[in-house]
Amino acid sequence: MLDLLIIGGGPAGLYASHLASNSGLSYTLVEASFELGGKLRLYEDKPVYDYPGFNDTLGKTILNQMLTQMAESKYNSHIKLMTSIGRIEKTEDGFISYTNHQETIASKFIIITHGGGMFVPRPLNIQNEATLNNLYYHVKDASLYEGKKLVMFGGGDTATDWAHYFINHGAEVHLIHRRDDFRGDESLLSEIKVNANVYTPYKFSDASITDHTVESVTITHLKTKEDIEITCDHVFVFFGTIPIKTHPLNNDLALDNSRLIVSTSMETSLQGIFACGNGITYPGKQSMIITALGEVATAMGSIIYQLYPDKIPSYKRL
Ligand SMILES: Cc1cc2nc3c(=O)[nH]c(=O)nc-3n(C[C@H](O)[C@H](O)[C@H](O)COP(=O)(O)OP(=O)(O)OC[C@H]3O[C@@H](n4cnc5c(N)ncnc54)[C@H](O)[C@@H]3O)c2cc1C
Repeated sequence: MLDLLIIGGGPAGLYASHLASNSGLSYTLVEASFELGGKLRLYEDKPVYDYPGFNDTLGKTILNQMLTQMAESKYNSHIKLMTSIGRIEKTEDGFISYTNHQETIASKFIIITHGGGMFVPRPLNIQNEATLNNLYYHVKDASLYEGKKLVMFGGGDTATDWAHYFINHGAEVHLIHRRDDFRGDESLLSEIKVNANVYTPYKFSDASITDHTVESVTITHLKTKEDIEITCDHVFVFFGTIPIKTHPLNNDLALDNSRLIVSTSMETSLQGIFACGNGITYPGKQSMIITALGEVATAMGSIIYQLYPDKIPSYKRL
């Protein structure tokens, strides 16, 4: 059984992971999306004026600092992406949490850092999309796709960055976008236009599927309605994420206006389950990064004390 399960990989969850690691706890962090960062992903180029230590910074600067910290190998084994918790049950000695992969995670303590909702990939809308074994929303191991025939949907930085990467790694890239213009670095775009098959303005309209594998996609020109069928080895959907409101994880968790009510130690109405960040409420609550981080420090202090009453709080890395 784990010491701790952290639900949500936004700023609060990432900081909880850092403190859990520094204190030597056994823990897992689950994140519903294919990427960490939570709401920081929504304003990467927006100035942030209220973050200590920086006069003016950007969302992406804070995000990248947090992700760089999480890229250290000691964190990797603890983080499960594309994994959401739908239900938590109380057991005699802790909790069982149920994931979207029909797995269970047993833990003594839980910190809910779900921000009030999860980010899930925006789908392509193929039938039985979740069951397809060669359709992805992010690139996990680029070496698997080098030299292959790849169909990519999307017109943002992620789509253009990966299209550029794969044309330079022997892949046959077919890039499909519903608008004529792409976002992204101009020099990359001109290279992509020469070396990839670029289709604009086209949208996905159908797919041929055998044994949960996409054999080909059919795309339709938005104006002329002309169809093109493209056979493929792999399909990437780079449409970003959409927010979905989280439903209550346990009926005994007290809520106010869908937000978890917490005590001064950030404990919810269920002893052993703590909550921090945008998904909670208490008198005077401010929904900011810095308050989320302070709440995590408070919750973690309480959890570490309950797990190891003799442990002297330390600011030093173990
Ligand atoms: C446009 C915008 C601008 C902002 N500007 C500022 C600013 O300038 N300064 C500032 O301090 N704050 C700002 N904020 C607020 C700040 O981003 C939030 O306070 C902060 O992101 C809260 O962090 P969090 O970790 O609690 O939640 P989130 O950032 O929401 O992260 C929650 C994570 O949990 C995941 N999740 C949810 N449910 C589940 C589940 N059941 N299972 C698994 N994973 C789950 C989600 O996918 C998400 O990744 C801004 C917010 C927005 C939207």
